[in-house]
Amino acid sequence: MKLLIVEDEVKTGDYLQQGLGEAGFNADLARTGLDGLNLAMNQPYDLIILDVMLPELDGWQLLQAIRKRGNEVPVLFLTARDEVDDRVRGLELGADDYLIKPFAFSELLARIRSLLRRGRSSQEPTRLQVADLELDLVKRRVLKAGERIDLTAKEFALLELMMRREGEVLPRSLIASQVWDMNFDSDTNVIEVAVRRLRAKVDDPYPRKLIHTVRGMGYVLEERD
Ligand code: CA
Repeated sequence: MKLLIVEDEVKTGDYLQQGLGEAGFNADLARTGLDGLNLAMNQPYDLIILDVMLPELDGWQLLQAIRKRGNEVPVLFLTARDEVDDRVRGLELGADDYLIKPFAFSELLARIRSLLRRGRSSQEPTRLQVADLELDLVKRRVLKAGERIDLTAKEFALLELMMRREGEVLPRSLIASQVWDMNFDSDTNVIEVAVRRLRAKVDDPYPRKLIHTVRGMGYVLEERD
């Protein structure tokens, strides 16, 4: 799941991006309204966290612009305490929720999770399960045999991809483009290292192994006898 933060205050933006990364989300950061609009229109985000007062294009204009183009991504507005009327205006323009600055990070996380849950259509699952491995897309939590496993944001994204495509052999190039948004040279071992780290957490300590190497082809996640 991918989030976009649009925030011009350097400290707040960095804090949000870092905090959300630690909570297991993959978050891009735009520091102007125009950058935010370009990213929002060119990448599929699951949620946008939008500051109101922004250079170039303010939060309302950005929201209006993306809604006009048919983009229905959930939007959480961040407003200052003295901008109470803004909240009403934001909601009228199609914001899904708002949070008053300064806010507790735990409150932000709770709002984000609730919006992501609401934003998912009924046919899209919020949990993936293969054998005794469970991945909760909203809570960003992984359980193996009922035990909680801590993953980095990249490890989580890698596992999510493999679980979504259970039983399918995934070439390294596909993993690179889906999880790292880039193309790696064929001789790089970044993917190998990442898969090894993931295995060390979800497979090595347990009798049931789910991640398998298919020599010369890539990796597959599936239950084998
Ligand atoms: Ca601002």
